[in-house]
Amino acid sequence: MQKGNIGVTTENIFPVIKKFLYSDHEIFLREIVSNAVDATQKLKTLANKGDYKGELGDLKVSVKLDTDKGTITVSDNGIGMTAEEIEKYINQIAFSGANDFLDKYKDDANAIIGHFGLGFYSSFMVSKQVEIVTKSCKEGAQAVKWTCDGSPAYELEETEKEERGTDIIMHIDDDCKEFLDKNKIKGLLDKYCRFLPIPVVFGKKTEWKDGKQVDTDEDLVINDTNPIWTRKPSDLKDDDYKEFYRTLYPMSDEPLFWIHLNVDYPFNLTGVLYFPKIKSNIELQRNKIQLYCNQVYVTDSVEGIVPDFLTLLHGVIDSPDIPLNVSRSYLQSDSNVKKISTYITKKVSDRLQSIFKNDRKDFEQKWDDIKIFINYGMLTQEDFYDKAKNFALFKDCEGKYFTFEEYQTLIKDSQTDKDGNLIYLYANDKEAQYSYIEAAKNKGYNVLLLDGQLDTPVVSMLEQKFEKSRFTRVDADVIDRLIIKDNANTSSLDKEKSAKLSSVFKSQIPAIDKKEFYVETQAMGEQASPILIVQSEYMRRMKEMAQIQPGMSFYGEMPDMYTMVLNTDHALIKEILTDSETKTAEELKPIEAEIKGLSARQAVLRQQQDNKKAEEITQEEKDELNKCGDDIQAQEKLRDEVMAKYGTDNKIVHQLIDLALLQNGMLKGEALSNFVKRSIDLIK
Ligand code: ADP
Repeated sequence: MQKGNIGVTTENIFPVIKKFLYSDHEIFLREIVSNAVDATQKLKTLANKGDYKGELGDLKVSVKLDTDKGTITVSDNGIGMTAEEIEKYINQIAFSGANDFLDKYKDDANAIIGHFGLGFYSSFMVSKQVEIVTKSCKEGAQAVKWTCDGSPAYELEETEKEERGTDIIMHIDDDCKEFLDKNKIKGLLDKYCRFLPIPVVFGKKTEWKDGKQVDTDEDLVINDTNPIWTRKPSDLKDDDYKEFYRTLYPMSDEPLFWIHLNVDYPFNLTGVLYFPKIKSNIELQRNKIQLYCNQVYVTDSVEGIVPDFLTLLHGVIDSPDIPLNVSRSYLQSDSNVKKISTYITKKVSDRLQSIFKNDRKDFEQKWDDIKIFINYGMLTQEDFYDKAKNFALFKDCEGKYFTFEEYQTLIKDSQTDKDGNLIYLYANDKEAQYSYIEAAKNKGYNVLLLDGQLDTPVVSMLEQKFEKSRFTRVDADVIDRLIIKDNANTSSLDKEKSAKLSSVFKSQIPAIDKKEFYVETQAMGEQASPILIVQSEYMRRMKEMAQIQPGMSFYGEMPDMYTMVLNTDHALIKEILTDSETKTAEELKPIEAEIKGLSARQAVLRQQQDNKKAEEITQEEKDELNKCGDDIQAQEKLRDEVMAKYGTDNKIVHQLIDLALLQNGMLKGEALSNFVKRSIDLIK
């Protein structure tokens, strides 16, 4: 028997492995099983080259659990090792600058393992003792057994072994007992070994017999050795892709479509990316792409490797060229990784472009579902926008689809305002904004439906990309002011009448939490609604952005501001105007006389002070002007009170306000109940 010390320069590597790699120690199984797979593949290569002349047999790896002995054994019938090879590959671990490196990457198990080729030694993360029983494929080779208890001391002796290949026997440590659980091991094999290229056997298939689960004679192979991404696209049918998707994500809806990646220059990469059907929250859909290295599962956090927006896709990427065993920050600056990211973006946009070109109908049908990816891509990736602008679609309220360019052509003549700006009208809720959409259509305008999760930021982005263009929601203003075509002043009432009529209505609007109303008058034509609620595009959009972007919470806190517009052309409004004037004339007479007098006085004072230099105006003069202003305000307040009193008793005013609120889904609770009662009174 030979005894010796493992050639590490660091005093003792094992405590280091155990301590620093603690968090990730389940990967020992991946490392040991992939070594076994490598050993069988190496044998295949030798046989192909004619360097191995024996029978290959069924190449496979098996994983066995012995709960009594407390061991996990990974066996293969691969190339095996001679005593010299054990000496060379297992005992002599080349260490250079080990301490520095360990210090730097102590939190990153993958980095350490990869850097040192410590794959095999990761078994010590969970074992108090590891044995290697191996027989080389070389003719007449002597089987050997290597034993090590986790100190740098090892033993190597000759042994009996019938079959070619290697058994790695891990005596599981007392504090790692969880790995002696069948389900635990099955779970790890499913996670890391599911697509390894050589069959991995874990026990027997089971069946139900006499009310319980019993083993059959058939091996349970836990992996698919020939997963779809390793095959040629021409050999695959749609159903193959769909089925593979189902095995990866059993609970998901069918994918929209997929992209088969296959490059060998300037880097190696294969994979299949799927566009999933996203139902609600996009955050939940991230990080579904699985990253493999030669069919060995590595991770499912792919940030930095694929562009951010593509982390929404699902599927598999396999590349031996992605430096998997390094830290994330290194990954992001790696030039290979950057190339890969650019390549994938291009592949995805090319594929979208080709579906759009070859089967526009199919593309349109899928648009509502893929829109979120394309929007997200356009928002976050300039080079993607440049491609996507040619196939991204707008959908209007009637369900018709247009490219950006087609849509511009469509609305150019009818929706350009007096300053030459192209006004894109949109709705984000077809039902709630029904009457506004109708009004716009009657005017010959087209209305887009922008009801996607990302439409608010997309609109802001497009306003910057498109020249002289603005997006306005249909309910942002009364129809004639949505797209202003000339400078005509459409208000027909003088200021005072308008103020009085407005205060009749304003005083009667029920208090609604977090909503505020202004009242305005406007001539909108006899046929238009008597009363209408609009919400300024700017404020609304600021509030919407505040919901997505942190740091804008100031806008988020503000109440929603609406304008109630009274149509002075409408018979009902005209009637209220005349009626209110008649009924309040008596009471208003002294107040209005007072306002008139004060206003005249104010005008005179203003003019006097305008003629003087600032420093020549005395405090007394200033005070007088201020007092005059205050007095006018006080009188206006009295006037408003008179108008409010009139409004309180006017059923039509209440009815009109409620109808406007109702139309915008804002009439609720007590106000709604009052409205119903009043309506019944009015018709009875
Ligand atoms: P790496 O696999 O990165 O080279 P490991 O520490 O995992 O590093 O393994 C070191 C070497 O030991 C391998 O390169 C291989 O030559 C040998 N080896 C490990 N496991 C086996 C096995 N099951 N059969 C044959 N050789 C093996």
